[in-house]
This record gives sequence, C-alpha cells and structure tokens, in this order.
Amino acid sequence: MKDPLHFLNFERQTGEVVPAKERVTQFKEVQAQQNQQVREEQSSRCLDCGTPYCQWKCPLHNAIPRWLELAGEGRIMEAAELAHQTNPLPEVCGRVCPQDRLCESVCTLNDEFGAVTIGQVERDITDLALDAGWRPDLSYVAKTGHKVAVIGAGPAGIGCADYLVRAGVAVTVYEAEPVIGGLLSTGIPGFKLEKDIITRRFEVLKDMGVEFVLGTKVGQDISFKELLDGYDAVFLGLGAPRSVDSGLAGSDAEGCLEAAHYLYDQNLKLMQGTELHFDQKGKHVVVIGGGDTAMDCSRTALRQGAASVTLLYRRDRENMPGSPKEVRFAEEEGLQFAFCHQPLEVLAQGGKVEGIRVQETQLGAPDASGRRRPEPVAGSERDLKADTVVLALGFRPQLPPWLSEVGVVADEAGRVLAPDGKTLHPKIFAGGDMVLGADLVVTAIANGRKAAIGILDKLGLTAGVTAA
Ligand SMILES: Cc1cc2nc3c(=O)[nH]c(=O)nc-3n(C[C@H](O)[C@H](O)[C@H](O)COP(=O)(O)OP(=O)(O)OC[C@H]3O[C@@H](n4cnc5c(N)ncnc54)[C@H](O)[C@@H]3O)c2cc1C
Ligand code: SF4
Repeated sequence: MKDPLHFLNFERQTGEVVPAKERVTQFKEVQAQQNQQVREEQSSRCLDCGTPYCQWKCPLHNAIPRWLELAGEGRIMEAAELAHQTNPLPEVCGRVCPQDRLCESVCTLNDEFGAVTIGQVERDITDLALDAGWRPDLSYVAKTGHKVAVIGAGPAGIGCADYLVRAGVAVTVYEAEPVIGGLLSTGIPGFKLEKDIITRRFEVLKDMGVEFVLGTKVGQDISFKELLDGYDAVFLGLGAPRSVDSGLAGSDAEGCLEAAHYLYDQNLKLMQGTELHFDQKGKHVVVIGGGDTAMDCSRTALRQGAASVTLLYRRDRENMPGSPKEVRFAEEEGLQFAFCHQPLEVLAQGGKVEGIRVQETQLGAPDASGRRRPEPVAGSERDLKADTVVLALGFRPQLPPWLSEVGVVADEAGRVLAPDGKTLHPKIFAGGDMVLGADLVVTAIANGRKAAIGILDKLGLTAGVTAA
C-alpha cells in the first residue's frame, strides 16, 4: 500500500522554464517536458483522495487520478488512451488551460504543498505517446451509415467530430482557414502552443477517419443549404470572431491594430512562412486590455523586437483578468505595465499613429462583474508616445445571415441559443465560443462533445464514449 504521506517526499515541480532573455528571442514554448523521473514522482504525488475534486472541476471531467496513477507507473500508452476517452486534445489543454482556475485549483495539495502538476502530466503523456506512434483505437467502431457536417475546425468542431467518429458517424469538417485548430492555430501564439502540435493532431484526426475540407468558407465557397440538405445533421462551431469596438477616436489611423489581426499575422508567418504585415521591430507599442489576449499581443511584440511595449489597463494588477502565470512571464520578458490608466484618444499625424492620450483612474465600488469600477481622475491626462496601438478588448460571436434565414437565433451578445447544443432548428447543433461567448479551449471542447450527444440522440444512436 502506498504511504499516505508519500507526497511529502517531492515538492511540486514543473518542467524547466526557459530563461526570459532566451525565450524573448523565439516563438518556442516556454516550459519544457518533465523528464521521466520527475514525471513519475510528480504523478505519484496524487493522494487519490476519494473525492476527486480535480475531475469535477475539469470541464471535461477527465479521469485525472487514474491517468496520474498510470503515468506514475510509467504506463504512458495506457495513460494517453485514458486521457483521450474524455478529451480529443489533451496535449493542447495540458498547455493552455488555466489550471490555476480549474483542475489544479481544487487539488487537495494546492493550499499547503502545491497542486499536482496535472496539466503538465496531461500534455507530456500525450506528446510521448503520439511521438511513439500511439493512435486512438477505433477498430471496435461499427459504421452507422449516418453522416454529419461540422463547420469550423476549432476546439468545438474537433470535440464534436472526435465524439461522432468514435460512435461510427461519418464526419466532414468544413474550415475557412487553410489549417485546422481555429484560434489554436490563428490566435494563440507559438510560445504558448507550438504550431507543429496542431499539425500532428491533424494527422491523428485524419487517421481516425475525420474528413477535412480546408480553405472553404461556408456561406461563401459552399452554400449552407447544400450542407443542410446533404447531411443528417450540421454542427456549427464558428467561434467568436468579432472584436469588441473600442469606440476610441483616432482608432482608424494606420498603426492601430486589432489583436486578432495582429496575432493572425504572426501565426501565419509561423505556420506558412508568409511575410509579416505588422512587424513591431524597433517600434514603441502600447497594448490596451488586461486579459490573456493582451498579454499574448504584448509578448508577441517583445519577440518581434519592439523598442518598448506598454500595457494599458484601467484597473490595478489585482483586478486584472489575465492569468497570473502569463502576467509573470510577460513581466519577466520586459512588458511595462501602466495600471489604472484608461485610453482617451489615439493620436495620429498624417493618418499614422504617433501616440495615445491617457488618463489615470482610481478604483471605486465593485460593478456587476464584482471588480472595482475604474473612475477617471480629473486633470491627470497625458500623452504617451506610440508607433503602434493594439486593441485587445475581447471578442463576441456574430450570427451570419445564412443562419438567421433558417431560424437559428442569437441573444443580444451574439451568442447562438443552443441549450445542450440544440438550436431551434431540428437538424442544426452548435457549440463553443459562438454559444458561450469568448471563453476557453476546454469549455469549447466540452460544449462540442455535448452537442455530439444531442446529434447521436437525434439520429437514434447510442453514445459510443462518455462525455462531460
Ligand atoms: C489570442 C487568444 C489567446 C487565447 N488563449 C487561450 C488560452 O491560453 N487558453 C484557453 O483555454 N483559451 C484561450 N483562448 C480562447 C480559445 O482559443 C477559444 O475559446 C477557443 O478556440 C474557442 O473554440 P471554438 O471552436 O469555439 O472557436 P474557434 O477556435 O474560433 O474556431 C472557429 C473556427 O470556425 C471557422 N469558421 C468560422 N466561420 C466559418 C465558415 N463560415 N465556414 C467555415 N469555417 C468557419 C474559423 O475559421 C475557425 O477556425 C484564446 C483566445 C485568443 C483570441
Ligand atoms: S483539460 Fe484542463 S482542466 Fe481538465 S485536467 Fe486538463 S488541464 Fe485540467
């Protein structure tokens, strides 16, 4: 029997973190794999506490204690097999999930001893198994003769497609971009998620029988009606592509960029070797926002060789939504913070950005979100020099006209109404950011899987695997 105090033998230890000076010169990931000994020691710290809070806090309800046990015994292939029963992208979630708010936040060891490194183990067992040639076993799957179209190859679309092929449904995924992954490819920078991780997953999904039609925008390159008529059901995972409008005077000047366009530009260079349109080498950059996207833009500009990068945020550090780990990494890499400052106007000369007018704020009573409301400090206006202003104020879904025409409806925030993944149209299902609003990779996957269960139900089929 395992010593109940075994966890005291090892402190929490993640993979090695590349020093800031080195990582700011490249778009490679910041945190390395744990070596075998460390991985086994770290996995064995799990108390198997009987009530696995981690499993319930994980939106996919991953069987965390079980795959930690297998990883602790060096049984990588079995651990990876188990991880894939609930998650089609464990190597991605292990890297980009905010574990400090999810699984690891409720680990029994978290408060006093440091949580088990759940995310790191999830990522490493999957990388090791896939690199050693392990693939999901679908030999038991009997074909049902049903076929489903999935629109959007982001986490929601992949979550839905993976679940359906495992239940014997033929799935074709239509994707506007030339690559799969949605924001995993086009939004999240390479230093959080290297692009060949997605290329490897693309091959795995194709091997599983998922068919992809890339570079095809539904509603433009192919009509939605064709899909609705040609398939037994359609799943929508279109994401939340609309940037929140800053309403700032001067934001139409050259050099004022939306975060999505800026990150897309750098990611396309990484994936396809295209020219950069928004290179920040030698420039003074101001990023507006306080979330992880703002941190991603700032760290991208630092890697492009910006002369300075300043993050403007209207509340203080404690009230900033960005994950503490990402904020720490950004600070180590040279990001300067202007907390309690709000933008008033983008300043331009000859149509080009030359600065930004800002004003100090002080924090008042909490607003509806529970965070303290920023209030302007009279007479505190000043101008900051900037060659580029990046707006990272968040994203919203947007219902295309071809969906409203068939009776799919959205709320005021643009979120498609689809309780349990079912829209008001009996053949159309939806999930991910377009239903939840801009959220997380793991919730988009869970949402896609939930919709897949609804599709199987509609088709009169029993679910092949358990879903969250
Ligand atoms: C910069 C940035 C960083 C982020 N970092 C993190 C992070 O660290 N951790 C985390 O958990 N989450 C992060 N997120 C959020 C996360 O990426 C999203 O919540 C998640 O990708 C949503 O998945 P989705 O499948 O709903 O949408 P998306 O990933 O947006 O995928 C939608 C796909 O649909 C395609 N599509 C849209 N319309 C059509 C059409 N008409 N025809 C064909 N295809 C179409 C799009 O091209 C896209 O590929 C980040 C988001 C951003 C923007
Ligand atoms: S999917 Fe995310 S929340 Fe769930 S175990 Fe993995 S890292 Fe934790």
